[in-house]
Amino acid sequence: MPYPPLIEKVIFHFSKLPGVGRRSAERMAFWVLGHSREEVSALAQSIVELKENLKSCRLCNNFAQADVCMICSDSSRDQYTLCVVEDPKDVLAIEKTGAYKGQYHVLMGNISPADGRGPEDIKIGHLVNRVQSGLIKEVVIATDPDNEGEMTSLYIIDRLKDKNVKVSRIGLGIPMGSSVEFSDMSTLCVSFNSRRKIQK
Ligand code: ZN
Repeated sequence: MPYPPLIEKVIFHFSKLPGVGRRSAERMAFWVLGHSREEVSALAQSIVELKENLKSCRLCNNFAQADVCMICSDSSRDQYTLCVVEDPKDVLAIEKTGAYKGQYHVLMGNISPADGRGPEDIKIGHLVNRVQSGLIKEVVIATDPDNEGEMTSLYIIDRLKDKNVKVSRIGLGIPMGSSVEFSDMSTLCVSFNSRRKIQK
């Protein structure tokens, strides 16, 4: 026998969350029923606030609550090194290692012809402008070591080849086909410290 429609509706929405099946969605619905209106409102409100108020940093495209994210506005960080990643989750993974104290540029994706995504669909133009107009002396490419990440990396290397900037690529230690986001901290540290020079 199905639950009343009000419960079924909540289960339906929870079951759309990543990694959540019907069973977990039911448990979440019962969590809602078992908690106070204030607690449930706080949860619902925080989700809506996130959606309404989270912006992307106008400098690096990372998540931000203001015009510029916390990393870009931190003047104690190295202003001359720029690490290029595919996704804001990669910034988080690299920040956790503590091995890197420079700036970031988040591409918001990768080049993937199979999925119909070309260079114009990600923030590469913005990256080139940033390198051209800024203080950047070294670009560290930290796209994933899979086909799309490698293709993206090669394209960036090509776009930066006539710019007066050092270019390097992380990679050692992260197995081919895996991702920056899911690499463990020590692997990412090794990968950063042993980045291979490509240009300059
Ligand atoms: Zn930023």
